[in-house]
Order: sequence, then structure tokens, then C-alpha cells
Amino acid sequence: MKNIPHRIYLTEDQMPKQWYNLRADMKELPDPMLNPQTLKPIAEEDLYPIFCRELAHQELDNTTRYIDIPEEIQDFYKMYRPSPLIRAYELEKALGTPARIYYKFEGNNTSGSHKLNSAVAQVYYAKKQGLTSLTTETGAGQWGTALAEACAFFGLDLTVYMVKGSYDQKPFRKSIIQTFDANVIASPSDTTEAGRRILAENPGTTGSLGCAISEAVEKAVTTPNCRYVLGSVLNQVLLHQSIIGEETIKAMELIDEYPDIVIGCAGGGSNLGGLIGPFMKDKLQGKADPRIIAVEPASCPSLTRGRYAYDFCDTGKITPMARMYTLGSGFIPSPNHAGGLRYHGMSPILSKLYHDGYMEAVSVEQTRVFEAATFFAKKETILPAPESAHAIRAAIDEALKCKETGEAKTILFGLTGTGYFDMTAYSSYHEGTMTDYIPTDADLQRGFDALPVIPGVQE
Ligand SMILES: *Cc1c(COP(=O)(O)O)cnc(C)c1O
Repeated sequence: MKNIPHRIYLTEDQMPKQWYNLRADMKELPDPMLNPQTLKPIAEEDLYPIFCRELAHQELDNTTRYIDIPEEIQDFYKMYRPSPLIRAYELEKALGTPARIYYKFEGNNTSGSHKLNSAVAQVYYAKKQGLTSLTTETGAGQWGTALAEACAFFGLDLTVYMVKGSYDQKPFRKSIIQTFDANVIASPSDTTEAGRRILAENPGTTGSLGCAISEAVEKAVTTPNCRYVLGSVLNQVLLHQSIIGEETIKAMELIDEYPDIVIGCAGGGSNLGGLIGPFMKDKLQGKADPRIIAVEPASCPSLTRGRYAYDFCDTGKITPMARMYTLGSGFIPSPNHAGGLRYHGMSPILSKLYHDGYMEAVSVEQTRVFEAATFFAKKETILPAPESAHAIRAAIDEALKCKETGEAKTILFGLTGTGYFDMTAYSSYHEGTMTDYIPTDADLQRGFDALPVIPGVQE
């Protein structure tokens, strides 16, 4: 094998010019999204009040395998991409593993995560359609930052509903978003019907992503020339994030490598869906058989303990219903859950692939996640986001298994971002006050009881 450099970069010329649409290669497609009023499959026009037209089209396009990335978006990507594929030599040495470990690092931009890959696309299409403002929600803050960056660049107004727990815990996140001129509101808020209703039912709530989504959607549909945009879960977001996997497979080709195991953290599933694209394609076409592992928090275990059912994508029950692994749209993780990855559902595409046996999932407790995060930081000199550290944990566990068996497997994981705004969580880990709350079956049952009833489909 060639001498492999620490960091493997593509040149600008080698950068992918198309996104990859995994649905085009799936043996069976995810079940159709349903209109919450009629309970019938959604038509593209049904989505126009919520998404701009091009994105509504991408959301429902199950057949176009490769979609050209508009030149303006390619140019924007070139400001912070290609992202490096890094060989984790020091981590390997420290673990004493024969495995070769690679990670694709998406933290080299101000949002601190992969979220900018889809933010720029969504803002570009909105601008092209002549929209003047956007709304969104943000949990940990990376998506709000990414979208604020893209809106500032293309000249659109933005209102960000930020989950109250994060808003209080991460004041500097708010300042960054404001630097890009966006309006940040703690959710639930009194600026929407949905927010007022949730506040009345549960005045002390620290909020949830689902609830912030409801507020952002309501604000969008009641504001002229405004649309709501979402940073994960949706098919269109996985499509935009496919840039991660397309770059990765090209970089691996340059060094004659191919992963035996592909690992990614999973909140709504966008980074994982993007990273695995070309490898899942090979798997679906029988050309290769890498193991693909989603890693989720034990405190928000949608794949490992959720139901595969139709559910709302938001707490306010405004958005279309999708069949996915879900904990119920009312599920709110315990307030002591530090990292992101707190969404109640999982991308319908990934849910289907998992349901059909193409993917595995594991859940990990947050203290073990932070143990992996600090170990990784000391060896590889990158302070990982807690979300990303879920993938690190699983990669380390797999590398340690290789140490036992003596197998020199190639492990690839997605390092989705940096953790500079998560120091409250890091501190509680250092101080030993971090705890692992794992929901009981009874806790989860409350969420399942609230799943929608769809006559003839789901009773
Ligand atoms: C948002 C985010 C995630 C999780 O979102 P997915 O849609 O599941 O990818 C993971 N890591 C970081 C750093 C994030 O910002």
C-alpha cells in the first residue's frame, strides 16, 4: 500500500459537481409522506406553502440519481470545501489497534458543522424563487449559524427559533447568529400560537426541536414571501449532504482505500445519510458490503428503541407525516442530555434502510461519549462536537475489537463538527456531574401513545 498522508484533500477540479440521490438506488422506497389534513400521499404542490418549489421537487424526486449542483453553490462550497479526509494515525497508535481509521472532518467553517452544505443550497433556491425571508429552528445552534451565514451571503432575512435550553446555555451561539444579522428567539415563545399553547401547557419547559419547528413553520406560513427551512431529516437535506460522501469516496480512491465499516452519528440523519451515499450505493448494487453503523444517544434512541411508524415531523403537527423511526413528536429528551441529536424521529430514507437491514444502529451513554471526545481531542488535536463524539465512541469501540481479533479493518467515520460552544457540557464531564439518563419503557410508551391514528394504515 502507498504511503498514506495524514490529510487527503481533493483539488478544486476534483470536487464533485453533482449531488447523489440515494433514493434512486433503493430497492424499496420509503413510504410516501402524507398530507396531515387529507391523510393522502403528498403531491409536490401540497409542499409549496412550506418549501420553495425547487426544494419541494427535490423532496419528492425518487428517481434522478445525480443532480447538478448549481454553479453559485459550487462556488460557495469552494470557500470551505473540500473538507479533509484525515487518517487518524495518532488515535490508532494510542489505541494500539491494527485498524486503519479515517475521518471526514466537516468542522472547518464558522457554523462548526456540516450544516452549511444544505443551508447554502436552501437559501440559494429560495433567493432564486424571489423569496425575501426564511424561518427556522435550531437546537444546538449549528444549523441556525449555518443558515444565518448563507442568508447574509445571499441577502435574505432570517428568524431563528432556538430551543430555550440551548439559548440559555449558549449565549455566544446567539451572538454569532446575530453577527450575520438574523433574529434569534428562544422557543417556546409568545410570538406564535404554537408557542403560546406549549407555554400554557408546560410553563417551565426548556423546549424541544419539534416545538421550535412548529413555531418556525407557523411564522413562515403567516409571513408573506417567507418559507420555512429545516436542517435535517428531509430527503432534500440528505441530498445536499451527499457532497460529504462523494468527496470521501473520491479521496479514498486516491489512496486505494475502501471502508469495511462506515460510522456516523445520527440526529435527524443528514450527515450520516450524506456520508454513506456512495457506499450504500455499492451495497445496494452488490458491489461491496461495508457495515454501516448509525450512532445515537441512549437518551434519545429513535432507531434502537423507536417505532417505525407514521408521525409528525414537528410537535405542532403542521408538517407532513412521514413514516420513520420515531419516539413520538412530543418526545423531549431529559434536560441533563448535553449534546445535540435530540430530534424525536429519523430521516425516512435512513429509517427504511435500517428497517430493511442495510444498516445497523447502536446507542451510547453520554459519559462514554465524552470520554471518547476527550481522548480523541488529546490524540488528534481537534475538540469534537458532542454529536460527533458519538461516532468517535463507536469508531474507537470497533478499533478495539480489531485489536482483539488482530484484523486490520478500514474504519471510516464522520467527524461532523467542533465543540467550542459545548463547554458547559464538557465542564460537567470534567467535574463529574454529568449523568446518564436513559428513558424507561414507560417514558417511551407515552410518546408512542401519541402517534397519529391513520385509518387503514396505522390504528
Ligand atoms: C446537527 C448536527 C448533527 C446531527 O444532525 P444530523 O442531521 O443527524 O447529521 C451532528 N453533528 C453536528 C456537529 C451537528 O451540528
